[in-house]
Amino acid sequence: MAMLEFDNVAVYYGKVQALRGISLTVEEGEIVALLGNNGAGKTTTLSTASGLVKSHSGRVSFNGTDITKAMPWNVVGAGLIHVPEGRRIFSTMTVLENLLLGGYLVKDRALVAKRIATVYELLPLLAERSTQQGGTLSGGEQQMLAIGRALIAGPKMLMLDEPSMGLAPLIVARVMQVISEIRDQGTTVLLVEQNARAALKVTDRAYVIDGGTTTIEGRAVDLLGDSRIIDAYLGA
Ligand code: ATP
Repeated sequence: MAMLEFDNVAVYYGKVQALRGISLTVEEGEIVALLGNNGAGKTTTLSTASGLVKSHSGRVSFNGTDITKAMPWNVVGAGLIHVPEGRRIFSTMTVLENLLLGGYLVKDRALVAKRIATVYELLPLLAERSTQQGGTLSGGEQQMLAIGRALIAGPKMLMLDEPSMGLAPLIVARVMQVISEIRDQGTTVLLVEQNARAALKVTDRAYVIDGGTTTIEGRAVDLLGDSRIIDAYLGA
C-alpha cells in the first residue's frame, strides 16, 4: 500500500481546470519529486492532498484512509504536513516561537521539547538563533526554519513546495541535503521543484506534471539521462 496515492484527481478553480487527472503514488520511505513548469499544477496537487483545495473528482488516500474530503487539520493530524511555497514564517516571532507553533496540535509538551531538540541537532543554525526574530534570518535560514517547524508536528510525510526558490546554489544544495537527512530519519518526502537538477539528485523517483496531468514518471537516475527531461527541464 502506498503512503500517499492520487487516483485520477481533477480540480477546478471556478471554471478553470487546474488538475486534469493526477495519478501518483509515494511509498513509505521515498523522496518523490513533482517537476514541471509554472502553472502546471504542482502546488494545486499539494494543496489538494492537504485539504486546502477540494477535488472535483478522483480520490486521494493517505496510509489507506480516504482523505479526498478531509479538512486540513485532520490531514495534519494524520501526519501529512505541507510546507507551503514562500516559507511563511512569522517574522516578528523568534525562531523558537516559530518552532513551537509547529507543535500547536501536539498535546504532549515533553514530546514537543524532544522534537525541538532533534530539529536543533539537524539544523544547528536554528539553535544558534533561537532567540532571534524570524525576519532577521536569511532566505535559506528561513527555509530551514519552515522545514524545522513542520518537523515539530511529527510528520509521517512532509510535502515541500519549492524549497529552493530564490536561494543561491550552495544553499539549495544544503536544503536538498537536509531533505535527504529527514528521509534518512524516517520521514517520507514529496517535493515540488522547478529546480529539476537539484531535486533529482536527492529523489528516488519523480513525476512530471504538465497541463494538470502527470505525464512522465520514473526513477531519478533514469530521468537525469532521459532526453525529454534534459530538453524540457534540465537545460544546458
Ligand atoms: P507554480 O510553480 O507557478 O506555483 P504550479 O505548477 O504549482 O505552478 P499551480 O499553482 O498549481 O501550478 O496552478 C495550476 C493552474 O491553476 C494554473 O493555471 C493557475 O493559474 C491556476 N490557479 C492556481 N491557483 C488558482 C486560484 N486560486 N484561482 C484560480 N486559478 C488558479
